[in-house]
Amino acid sequence: MRLRSSLLPLVAAAVFSALALLVPVDPDSPMAQAANTQAFGRVIDLGQDVKMLMGQGGNMAMLGGPDGLFVVDDQFTTNAEANLAKIEEIAKAKPKFLVNTHWHFDHMGGNAVFAKAGATIFASDNSRKRMSGQITSLELTGQPRRTWAKEFWPVVTFKDGIDFHLNGQTIRVIKAPAPTHTDGDVMIYFVEADVLHMGDTYTKDGYPLVDTPSNGTQAGHIATFKRVLELTGPNTKYIPGHGELANRDDVVATLAMHEGARAAVEKAVKSGATLQQTIAARPLAQWTPRFGRPGNFASEDAFVTVIYNELKKSQPQA
Ligand SMILES: [Zn+2]
Repeated sequence: MRLRSSLLPLVAAAVFSALALLVPVDPDSPMAQAANTQAFGRVIDLGQDVKMLMGQGGNMAMLGGPDGLFVVDDQFTTNAEANLAKIEEIAKAKPKFLVNTHWHFDHMGGNAVFAKAGATIFASDNSRKRMSGQITSLELTGQPRRTWAKEFWPVVTFKDGIDFHLNGQTIRVIKAPAPTHTDGDVMIYFVEADVLHMGDTYTKDGYPLVDTPSNGTQAGHIATFKRVLELTGPNTKYIPGHGELANRDDVVATLAMHEGARAAVEKAVKSGATLQQTIAARPLAQWTPRFGRPGNFASEDAFVTVIYNELKKSQPQA
């Protein structure tokens, strides 16, 4: 009995990690509480005082300096205090500005804690509307998705983007050109450091989780990656929403995967194949060794399903 109860947090953490990869889980649930109380563990220096912060949940970034501390995303509600304390320890300052890349709980669950510490929170119009319940959202399972108390809501929102001029640098917050992971994704470009935080429009070496109930689309991924390659250069460092720091070759390969996957599934749709037949034919087989490894956000089958349904919807009815 004693042994079993001491194993419980470990089991809960394992179950939560597995679930978190599939669908957003209520961050207030006991499972989430057990799993996500640790601060981020890794700090990667990207030059010009820009740092990538990696731990549980989405990758964060920060830029410190005399004008104030700027932060991208804040992971879970349950590890927000720990993250805040660690950020303050590294930067010797409290966060002044914080931008949410999108409205998922593993990227903005710490908003209330960071706002209370003095941070002004920025996000796209749609991200705030979904957090506050002004737009109703469903889980991928079709259940109503939780909304957030007022303390979590961004206080500054924007439609297309916003620029920060801080610590002698320019930080460009850019709305994705089309609904991608959700309909509220933004990317954050630290111009002088040449670092782009892509939020969950990019999961390094993984098929993307397309949050279709939040209007995410695979076509949007293609548009976003094309835009990213126009905006950035050969030496840009790319921070994905999840996974390791990436370079231009990684981003080019991911765009090629998106375009190839879409073309392959489109061929099946045009041939009249059903979804089950399309999945069985494994049109994405050539990309799966890199992008469909076990433990990633979306499986090959899940990604085929998203593309198939999207193409089917846009197809003229016979
Ligand atoms: Zn997300």
